[in-house]
Amino acid sequence: NVRTRFAPSPTGYLHIGGARTALFSWLYARKMGGTFILRIEDTDRERSTQASVDAILEGMAWLDLGHDEGPFYQTHRFDRYAEVIQQLVDSGHAYRCYCSKEELEQLREGQMARKEKPRYDGRWRDRQDETPPAGVDPVIRFRNPQTGVVDIDDLVRGKITISNEELDDLIIARSDGTPTYNLTVVVDDIDMQVTHVIRGDDHINNTPRQINIMRALGYEPPKFAHLPMILGSDGQRLSKRHGAVSVMQYRDDGFTPQALLNYLVRLGWSNGDQEIFSREEMIELFSLEAVNRAPSAFNTDKLLWLNQHYIKTLPVEELAAQLQWHLQEQQLDVSTGPALTDVINAQRERAKTLVEMVAISRYFYEDFADFEETAVQKQFKADTVDNLQIVHDEFAALSAWKAEPIHGAIQAACEKLGLKLGKVGPPLRVAVTGGASSPSIDITLELIGRERSLARIQRAIS
Ligand code: GLU
Repeated sequence: NVRTRFAPSPTGYLHIGGARTALFSWLYARKMGGTFILRIEDTDRERSTQASVDAILEGMAWLDLGHDEGPFYQTHRFDRYAEVIQQLVDSGHAYRCYCSKEELEQLREGQMARKEKPRYDGRWRDRQDETPPAGVDPVIRFRNPQTGVVDIDDLVRGKITISNEELDDLIIARSDGTPTYNLTVVVDDIDMQVTHVIRGDDHINNTPRQINIMRALGYEPPKFAHLPMILGSDGQRLSKRHGAVSVMQYRDDGFTPQALLNYLVRLGWSNGDQEIFSREEMIELFSLEAVNRAPSAFNTDKLLWLNQHYIKTLPVEELAAQLQWHLQEQQLDVSTGPALTDVINAQRERAKTLVEMVAISRYFYEDFADFEETAVQKQFKADTVDNLQIVHDEFAALSAWKAEPIHGAIQAACEKLGLKLGKVGPPLRVAVTGGASSPSIDITLELIGRERSLARIQRAIS
């Protein structure tokens, strides 16, 4: 039974890289009929915040990456970590190190001066019988094997071999007794019976250390898949500098979660030249073997293209719910406008984002303050007032306010005036929307509603 986990540290929002890691872990679990675990790695109490936990949960929920177990919080598990640390000390796999800060600093400086890689030299490894210096709270270090190698069969990167000589004895408990990251991850991955660790390749240096600790505890390590990093358009690791990297910022900017998910799955994974994947297809087609080794670059144009695709094609009810959120976010009173599904149908071909859709739909919900100057100059002519008066009277006589009769009324007005639709429609559009572009005029009028339409024509001609 496959068990994967997403293990964010709650020190910020859910960013694009984290969301991609979460997606791949979720996908692999779903694909294998396995279990997806959410684990909050909040042991760094200085930097972890509840706001960040909430933001991560919100991001996961928005992307609909549901977990089967958790969220587990590492801060709830300190007793368990203490127990394992003691176990490692008792079995001789860990030892107390009484080096002072100054001593370690000196060691480091000496190594730097000799152009050596700074590393702990194991000076307390074999001094456990000595009387410890007074007044020093020891840290606990893992007794890393000094010979042999660690082999990793990474499911993305292939075989990686690290010589134990390159690894020093890392701290597993700080002098205040709190466990360090590499210890907590190992204990959790054991206790949660994780079978596949799927995470960013910034953790690759930790992997051999974690494997050694795991073996010292008598467990065989899980399988590993280290995902390539994501680069910004300038070739540097994706970061805040590249604009929105928080998942929720993409929601705020009008992206659909379906587009973002589709975008994320293609960051480092491909299936031939297919670009569009439904959730079901992702699950069906995903494999860790097909994950790229090379870094992938973030491309905003492609994300926009996908968003447009999903705005055109998602079920109308699904989009309506998302549009409603955006309208409310802009303080627009949804109850005073047309049915959201009608707005979607009228506007879905005309907007790349839901924020854009709100911008071009405001006049359905509230009266505009000013006419667009250029539209007025272009469309309002000497005869416009008289023409719009005729249109207004035709409209006023209508019994049903629907696109078809509205269309008929405009045609009747055109006939009376001896004008083509092309002369009457554009100024009418400016009169009721304030601007020069909208869906076809009859549908636009239907959605604005009878009262608002008539009042706006009046306003334009008085
Ligand atoms: N908490 C780590 C992070 O947010 C991830 C640890 C892991 O996946 O093993 O980078």
